[in-house]
Amino acid sequence: MSKCEICGKPTDNLFKCNICGRLVCSEDYNFSKGICAACEESLCQICGKNLSIGYCKICGRLVCEECSIRRGPELICKECAKKMNII
Ligand SMILES: [Zn+2]
Ligand SMILES: [Zn+2]
Ligand SMILES: [Zn+2]
Ligand SMILES: [Zn+2]
Repeated sequence: MSKCEICGKPTDNLFKCNICGRLVCSEDYNFSKGICAACEESLCQICGKNLSIGYCKICGRLVCEECSIRRGPELICKECAKKMNII
């Protein structure tokens, strides 16, 4: 029997996360997205597909590289950037 790589629970049913490749139990797996709970928590809140790289300075949402623009050390999501006419 293998162990879930998140909670450590021994189980016969492990599912592979499509993002990090971790093997996790059904409780730590999001079946509709095919990803583990750890990745789901750090997923971009704009596209919901990529891992986030930080928070938008304006709205505070987690954003990935594709959904944000960098202004010096700060990140701004594309939605906020659009509203503020930055892009
Ligand atoms: Zn687990
Ligand atoms: Zn994962
Ligand atoms: Zn994104
Ligand atoms: Zn934003």
